[in-house]
Amino acid sequence: QQIMQHRHSSIRIVDNLAEITRHHDRQVLEKSLLKTLNELFPAQSLRLFRIKRHDLMHDISLLAFCVNDVISSSEQHPKLNQETADELTAAMTEAIDKEDIVSYRPAEETGWNVIYPAYDSHGEIFASLVHHCQELPSSIDQRLVHGILRVYANYLALIDKSQRDKLTGLYNRETLDEEITKILVNQSSELNKLMASPNDSRRRRYAIKHWLGVVDIDKFKTINDTYGHLYGDEVIILVARLMTSGVIRDDDLIYRFGGEEFVVLLKAANETDAMQAFERIRRVVAEHSFPQLGQVTVSIGFVEVSAQLSPTDVIGQADEALYSAKNEGRNQVQNYHSLVAEGKISEPKKIASSDVELF
Ligand code: GH3
Ligand code: MG
Ligand code: MG
Repeated sequence: QQIMQHRHSSIRIVDNLAEITRHHDRQVLEKSLLKTLNELFPAQSLRLFRIKRHDLMHDISLLAFCVNDVISSSEQHPKLNQETADELTAAMTEAIDKEDIVSYRPAEETGWNVIYPAYDSHGEIFASLVHHCQELPSSIDQRLVHGILRVYANYLALIDKSQRDKLTGLYNRETLDEEITKILVNQSSELNKLMASPNDSRRRRYAIKHWLGVVDIDKFKTINDTYGHLYGDEVIILVARLMTSGVIRDDDLIYRFGGEEFVVLLKAANETDAMQAFERIRRVVAEHSFPQLGQVTVSIGFVEVSAQLSPTDVIGQADEALYSAKNEGRNQVQNYHSLVAEGKISEPKKIASSDVELF
């Protein structure tokens, strides 16, 4: 009897793990993890935090949470008061330092908070789970939660590896298409909501815009020809690092698009802010002194991601702007919409693009 019961609960756990690892999207994965844990510990609160190490400090932000058996993303979470937040941060820091589970009784709530740290494949802390419960879970239950969290961490590491370019560690081209599609789909659903309630001007005012820039190293052939292909690869790695240091928003994304070409997807409220962000990336490369070479520069063409038909169209428009940047003398940023307004690029022909799709 007992053995059968034991088998049944094992089956449930294995089923849940299979369910978690069915997904490839990070956000779906996070929610799936919480769903599984919630099934094991119903009606208790679970919060998943992302943790990023900044020198000696830890940058902690909520990813998703589950209360009363409902799973939500971070935006819906009520703001913690300072005391509760400080208490939580202190306990998390302790868990990270000890590399172990930490539990404490929160001052403003009954029951316990149990904190589980999660590490990536390099042993770096990347997430932390906070389980709030009335009674302290048994050590077997704690090990169970910790084990599930480790499966999640390993699986996430595998996904991350498949999404990255081997030379630079930047995201790869396959991942870019998915990301642009996600942005375009979200925008059209936002647009539908706006049409349904046109008086909701807040939605339009606060909608953050997405911008895509194609970055290409200037005169790269000369570098290869003069110093060799291996040295060229080193330059590509360095430029990738410099660009990464040149973006300021945490959720801006950089991709290696091909040989010495990159794509930057960033968020900005308007064209001026977007221009400044791409300018910063251009400048950080141009101001660096490369061993032997001295200065290496990049040219950038960018466009707002909105109302294009497909990722190919978005990249195509940014590419046209890049072509102008190259023609105008390189080491500069050009904006597709300004070029169209100035008549330097002709408006896209809708019929032509649907013709192309036939092939
Ligand atoms: P432009 O300023 O017009 O961009 O000049 P460019 O010389 O950079 O011209 P282009 O972009 O056409 O040439 C890129 C060259 O980069 C061609 C190719 O030999 C080289 N290349 C492409 N991929 C790699 C790579 O992975 N490693 C190295 N070392 N070189 C590459
Ligand atoms: Mg090129
Ligand atoms: Mg080039």
